[in-house]
Amino acid sequence: MRAHRYRLPLAVISGVAAAGVATLLLRPRGGLIDPAVVEPTAYFSSEELERARDFAGPRRVIFFAGLAVSAGTLALLALRPPAPIRGLIEAASRRPLLGAAGVGASLSLVLAVATLPISALGHEHAVDAGLSTQGWGAWLLDAGKSSVIGAAMAAGGALLAIALIRRFPRMWWAPASVAVVLLSAAYLYASPVVLDPLFNRFEPLPAGQLRSDVLELADRAGVEVGEVYGVDASRRTTGANAYVGGLGTTKRVVLYDNLIDGLPEDQVRSVVAHELAHVKHRDLTRGLVWLAIVAPPGMLLVQRLTERIDGRRRGDRKHGPASATAAALPALALSLAVVSFAGQMASNVLSRQVEARADAFALQLTREPDALIGLQRSLAVRNLSQPEPPALLHDLFGTHPTAVERIGYGLAWEPER
Ligand SMILES: [Zn+2]
Repeated sequence: MRAHRYRLPLAVISGVAAAGVATLLLRPRGGLIDPAVVEPTAYFSSEELERARDFAGPRRVIFFAGLAVSAGTLALLALRPPAPIRGLIEAASRRPLLGAAGVGASLSLVLAVATLPISALGHEHAVDAGLSTQGWGAWLLDAGKSSVIGAAMAAGGALLAIALIRRFPRMWWAPASVAVVLLSAAYLYASPVVLDPLFNRFEPLPAGQLRSDVLELADRAGVEVGEVYGVDASRRTTGANAYVGGLGTTKRVVLYDNLIDGLPEDQVRSVVAHELAHVKHRDLTRGLVWLAIVAPPGMLLVQRLTERIDGRRRGDRKHGPASATAAALPALALSLAVVSFAGQMASNVLSRQVEARADAFALQLTREPDALIGLQRSLAVRNLSQPEPPALLHDLFGTHPTAVERIGYGLAWEPER
């Protein structure tokens, strides 16, 4: 029997098919604007365009270098672990679950340390460009906190994974895909109340013009907004942004202080209306449903890849079940990283459509197309983002339509009767 030969390609095909189906099922139907054609030079000075391009180039190099170091480190540990590390993992394998937690946390810390120099380069680049306001001490403290949180989550995830491999050696992908969706929902629910306050201060918007604008917009949109917070983003960045977070009782709209203080009122209203559109259309839940459709074939692919890589390490060419100990974790981590990176890029297709609809909804709610156009200009200039990035990079990594497209929505919008 050579059936095992087809396992991996079949898993790849079902993963791609599921992502396509999920995106088709969940895409916004209607409510989208066909953008007017816009020349970037009509809205941005050549200096602004040049400044954004000069910032984007090194930033991309830093991003891909970080990716290469992460992938290279994981590949080395999974395929040719240095002898001392192999010894440590074997020792940890004597206590399967506890050992798995320890190796999971260690892998996460090794990755954090390996990528630290490149992250530091990225920080320096952002400081030089005037985008980051953080000193090295504060930056290191952030990096330390993130590493500890990452290691704790990796420990829990590794323990769960090895427990599932032990209990379901041939089909752990099935319970693992359920776990991925449940853990993502729990993360979405808990992060605004548990994790985010470790990094920033959130304060409900005080009574005043902005608060009444927000409540009035929410009322007209027919949206139960939860709470609206301002966040002290200026302690790290000069950039402006806003987002919706949380799930159920932790649902909220968050506005950067830079946005509230730095942008004209009509542009802030435009942002708020955009965020309300996400609440109205349950876009965070939509993302979870997308994940629920894609996770089963995605985790099947993770299992097949893990079996291949772990089998190669053991010299087993039949690709039997993966080791049910910490020894399988480097292979599992590498497989999970590859599959979730591909999944992230696939999910950007839906994200861009969801963001386009939120813009259209914001226009309908505010009836202020000039505010949306001004906002896209302000955001691109402040955040040093290219109004029209290279098409291939945008197709792979863009979560939002380009600023030029979004200006085009404002120009093409016509009030509905
Ligand atoms: Zn959005």
